[in-house]
This record gives sequence, structure tokens and C-alpha cells, in this order.
Amino acid sequence: MGKAWLGLGANIGRPRAQMLEALRRLDAHPDIHITRKSGIIETDPWGKTDQDPFLNMAIEVETALGPIDLLDACLMIEEAMGRKRTEKWGPRLIDIDVVAFGQMKLITDRLTVPHPHAHERSFVLDPLEEIAPSVAKWIKAQAVKG
Ligand code: ADP
Ligand code: MG
Repeated sequence: MGKAWLGLGANIGRPRAQMLEALRRLDAHPDIHITRKSGIIETDPWGKTDQDPFLNMAIEVETALGPIDLLDACLMIEEAMGRKRTEKWGPRLIDIDVVAFGQMKLITDRLTVPHPHAHERSFVLDPLEEIAPSVAKWIKAQAVKG
């Protein structure tokens, strides 16, 4: 079993209900077990700023899955919950990102961990800091090293 840290976000529909539903679905996965949850914070949109504020949170999971299978599980839950991908950084019913997967460093077409933007996004780092300060610190250190 490995540990991974996921970042959740939502800003349309009923964001809080969608976050809770995503948690329920993640924990219901036979190979994913949620071990820690941050509080839910409200944040200003990033990248594309003419949209509603976001709710964000971070969770720690224990998983028997490898990193790509964990990503696929997250993307399947997004899709099952009705997420449509229209524009980059646009509004979303639910976003589930793999912020870090243990201390693995991986750059592939489909998955980069630690998440390539994590170190510059306080809406990712602040909730992560709450549940896993050493992981938040490690992500910031990776960014400095490049
Ligand atoms: P974003 O979360 O950056 O707004 P999307 O949720 O639309 O963007 O994800 C687009 C793609 O990013 C996914 O299909 C996935 O293949 C890729 N991706 C690469 N690294 C990661 C990661 N660490 N977590 C989540 N998705 C990732
Ligand atoms: Mg995403």
C-alpha cells in the first residue's frame, strides 16, 4: 500500500455537495482508502479569473493502485459525476488531481507527479500543509530544484 495526496476542487453546481460525493466515491473504491482530510477552503479562481470562486481541499489516501491507475480512478469519478472539459482552467463540477504519489517523480504524457503546478498554487499547498506538512515542504523543495 502506498500513500498519495489528492487535491479536490469545484466551482459550479453545488460545490460542497460535489466534494462530499467525490470523497464518498473515492473511499468506496476497493483499492483506495481515505486516511486524512483537510478542511474545505474557498479560493479565488486561478489562471482563468472570470468565474465563480472555488472550494478546495486535500486528502491523503492509502492505495494499492499505481500512479496511473489512481489517476484513472480520479478521472472516472469526475466523468461519472458529469464533468465536461470545455476550456483549460475553466469552471468545473469536480476536479480531482494527483498532487503527489509517495515521493515518486514521474513525467509522462498523462501524469506528472508531483503535480506540475502544485508548488505555485496556494489552494493546493494550504490544505496539503494542514494534513501533510512534510509533503507540502517536499513539493516546494522540488520546485526550487527544478
Ligand atoms: P487541471 O486539473 O489542470 O485543470 P484537467 O483536470 O482537465 O486539468 O486535467 C487534464 C489532464 O491533466 C488529465 O487528463 C491528466 O492526464 C493530466 N494530468 C497530468 N498530471 C496530472 C496530475 N498530477 N493530476 C491530475 N491530472 C494530471
Ligand atoms: Mg485535474
